[in-house]
Amino acid sequence: MIIAIDGPAAAGKGTLARRLATHFGYPHLDTGALYRAVARRLLDAGQDPTDAEAAVAAARAVTAAELQSPRLRDEEVSRATSVVSAIPGVRAALLQFQRRFATTPPGAVLDGRDIGTVVCPDAEVKLFLEAAPEERARRRAKELRDRGVPAIDARVLQDIQERDARDSGRSTAPLSRAADAYVLDTTQLDPDAAFAAALAYIATRAP
Ligand code: C5P
Repeated sequence: MIIAIDGPAAAGKGTLARRLATHFGYPHLDTGALYRAVARRLLDAGQDPTDAEAAVAAARAVTAAELQSPRLRDEEVSRATSVVSAIPGVRAALLQFQRRFATTPPGAVLDGRDIGTVVCPDAEVKLFLEAAPEERARRRAKELRDRGVPAIDARVLQDIQERDARDSGRSTAPLSRAADAYVLDTTQLDPDAAFAAALAYIATRAP
């Protein structure tokens, strides 16, 4: 079974994806980390994230080991990531890696922006997570502070809104809900409640 989880930044995709992966015994791919690793490579090399040729070369060179780096979560990387992820050649370079991961038995959980629409349009389970922008900013700011990074909620909210606009407005694989995705609004849900709601839905899809 393939479980595809999409939604805007800080809607709770990663937490839910990890819990579902553990529950079903599947590997989990945080596809945002792939795009972040491309941005990290460019910034580390002093290259411009809008340079399509450099970005495609970085996408082709990304390795699985780079996906674990805590430096992928830095806010400068978050901003550059939504720029590189709008480059069609970058998306094409990362597509094969994601599809191979998804279709390797016994199943997989992938989270991102275009999993249910582009990467795995045939996924048995598609979840689309949403939450109010203010709540998403509060969560992301707390996550940063927990890591010792100073963060102001209002500034994080602005970053999140700019990123949402870029992710939704780009022409290649924009953030959008698949017609057959189950929408889960996590504004009022803690991680346990979101997990329970997702499991209840999955039971109706794969009894
Ligand atoms: O999920 P996360 O916030 O780590 O994603 C970082 C960025 O990567 C997103 O803002 C988006 O621009 C890009 N992304 C994407 N497609 C995906 C996953 C992430 O374009 N499947």
